[in-house]
Amino acid sequence: MAHPQSVAELIECIKIDPNLRILGDGANLLVADEGVSELVIVLNRGEFIDVQINDTTGHVIAGAGANLPKLITETARRGLSGIETLGGIPATLGGAVVMNAGGTFGQIGDCVHAVHAIDRAGNTLKLGREQLTFSYRHTDLGDHHDLIITRVELALRPHAGDPTSGFSGAEVVRAKLKDVMAYKSKSQPMSASSAGCCFKNPTLSRSITITGPDGAPTTLGEPNQRVSAGMLIDKAGCKGLRIGNAEVSPQHANFFIAHPNCTATDIIALIRSVRQRVGQAFGVNIEPEVKIWGAEL
Ligand SMILES: Cc1cc2nc3c(=O)[nH]c(=O)nc-3n(C[C@H](O)[C@H](O)[C@H](O)COP(=O)(O)OP(=O)(O)OC[C@H]3O[C@@H](n4cnc5c(N)ncnc54)[C@H](O)[C@@H]3O)c2cc1C
Repeated sequence: MAHPQSVAELIECIKIDPNLRILGDGANLLVADEGVSELVIVLNRGEFIDVQINDTTGHVIAGAGANLPKLITETARRGLSGIETLGGIPATLGGAVVMNAGGTFGQIGDCVHAVHAIDRAGNTLKLGREQLTFSYRHTDLGDHHDLIITRVELALRPHAGDPTSGFSGAEVVRAKLKDVMAYKSKSQPMSASSAGCCFKNPTLSRSITITGPDGAPTTLGEPNQRVSAGMLIDKAGCKGLRIGNAEVSPQHANFFIAHPNCTATDIIALIRSVRQRVGQAFGVNIEPEVKIWGAEL
């Protein structure tokens, strides 16, 4: 594992291992029990955690290793609106951008002005908003181009405040952040060990109807509709399913909990089993949202 402090040092790391892996906060990651053979880079030092915030314009320039929750708290304190919708999402800024982290209230892609990155040959590049494609929990930065994000520019909006209530911009943004966090901790097991949602919400190719407890048919979704993976996992009877020390959360079926002594092997076995059960029940192939290092599903 290496902790470069500058782009120049990162380029040295790429020369050592062009296939190196970037570890963000690890919040969306499952690493095989055997580990990985590539060099692992953590961008938590020097220029990679530098943050500059312009209170007047709302323009933010921050290193890819900057801690997202801290950045959200700080920008909300300054009355800048945009990323308060991502409250409660553990991430580095780079990890959030590459995953296009988001949820019910918004996604980070909506606030990205530009991304500074480096390719596997050590070339630096800057991608403007118009060169970036953000879709549901996805950008093409990681998968196709294998780029390493080094810095991110965000376009936040200075909030003018609410003339009716007399609340300042900072008070309005902070209140929104509080609401987002409250919603999240009510609906998700935030304190348990997990990687957040394990599967992406699938888009259905046909409608799914089941028979409810009262014998009446209930439609779970229509063709082309994106439905909750957690709902499908729940309806397939997987809530509370346990393999080894890995368990499908009884609170939120898309959160897979790692209990003490849980191994990656336990979690992978649970992922495979749940995927198979949902496939058998509804003919839907759910895709993992969690990134898996060093093992295949
Ligand atoms: C309790 C909990 C709740 C969560 N809730 C949500 C939610 O509501 N919405 C949501 O979208 N996600 C959620 N997640 C998942 C996670 O927070 C996000 O996916 C987040 O974006 C991961 O960021 P990270 O820095 O931890 O990346 P990691 O998990 O460390 O890495 C994820 C992937 O990004 C790559 N990567 C990281 N940094 C860089 C970089 N600088 N350049 C290139 N590639 C990079 C890694 O190589 C890896 O492939 C939750 C997770 C937890 C544990």
